[in-house]
Amino acid sequence: MEWCVSMPKIELHAHLNGSIRDSTLLDLARALGDKGLIDFSQVEHVILKNDRSLSEVFKLFDLIHIVTTDHSSITRITKEVVEDFASENVVYLELRTTPKKNDSLGMSKRSYVEAVLEGLRAVSSVDVAFIPNSEEPVNLSSTLLSDASDKCNGNTRKKIFVRLLLSIDRRETTEAAMETVMLALEMRRFGVAGIDLSGNPAVGEWITYLPALMFARQQGLYVTLHCGEVSNSKEIHNMLDFLPQRIGHACFFEEEHWRKLKSSNIPVEICLTSNIRTLSVPTIDAHHFVDLYNAKHPLVLCTDDSGVFSTSLSNEYKIAASTFGLGQKEMFELSKNSIEFIFADDVVKEVLRKTFDSAAKSLT
Ligand code: 5GP
Repeated sequence: MEWCVSMPKIELHAHLNGSIRDSTLLDLARALGDKGLIDFSQVEHVILKNDRSLSEVFKLFDLIHIVTTDHSSITRITKEVVEDFASENVVYLELRTTPKKNDSLGMSKRSYVEAVLEGLRAVSSVDVAFIPNSEEPVNLSSTLLSDASDKCNGNTRKKIFVRLLLSIDRRETTEAAMETVMLALEMRRFGVAGIDLSGNPAVGEWITYLPALMFARQQGLYVTLHCGEVSNSKEIHNMLDFLPQRIGHACFFEEEHWRKLKSSNIPVEICLTSNIRTLSVPTIDAHHFVDLYNAKHPLVLCTDDSGVFSTSLSNEYKIAASTFGLGQKEMFELSKNSIEFIFADDVVKEVLRKTFDSAAKSLT
């Protein structure tokens, strides 16, 4: 098994519907086509297109939502996404998703999240620990390098911690954003750890979401923000001043933004393939990963939308290693350091540290 697949990894920036398998998306689209609800021939072309600009990506998301937003599809996608990450030795996954209403299907934001939880319970190929303070601590150490251990020990099962982040879509109103935060609070006992702000960065105003984000933080929810996906200096300053626990992307930062980011030490979720595909960075060699890595700024490699961008976390590690000339040891350390930025308690962090330590012994 390639080292980037076999080593334990931590995924902190994965959008549920963006991580859908191509085969599932085509399946669901075909089923709607058969019912005459969409024109499948048009949709197939959009799904199979590879190099999309950022605005085309958001058009695809609108399509994905038409195809996926019913309870059983959400449950299926959740189950498959967790299985896919676990199969490449992701041992801790933060999955983010935007709770959606769909009146025609009797879907509320709450029932949407319940369908996601149903998906977590439906996973059968791996053990999923998602309820805080119950199934934990789970001993993950025997689950890694599973090819080898599976062979020696027929009943070794992979295990994965999962936490959920509820996303506020930038198209939403203050009230809708607040509804998502209230739901997150209610669902905390089922593993909802925090709030994400995402959606088309060309849409909406920071001031709209601020009350809900402030309330989330006051109530002890973690907050991560998509920040600097387009050039918007004022918003980037406002976001950094808010001091979220993490930010995603940071592509269109100027000197003063970097200074502020570095002095505040806010960890950055880096999504290499996504940034290249959406043309948010000019070339991979020019990616800000290099500067942040050299400055020892906290960062974590992530997929963003493994389905939409046809990638995997192992692939992101491989790209970083080959592009920036980093060895397996450095990549292992990078992966292990991500533990410090997860939205979970010290018990989980300690289990993960042990997992990495035992994997390190097997790798040497
Ligand atoms: P969902 O929340 O439906 O599970 O996942 C898809 C949604 O995540 C998209 O509709 C969009 O709101 C958000 N999303 C996915 N990828 C990106 C990205 O690269 N940037 C931003 N800003 N939002 C994204």
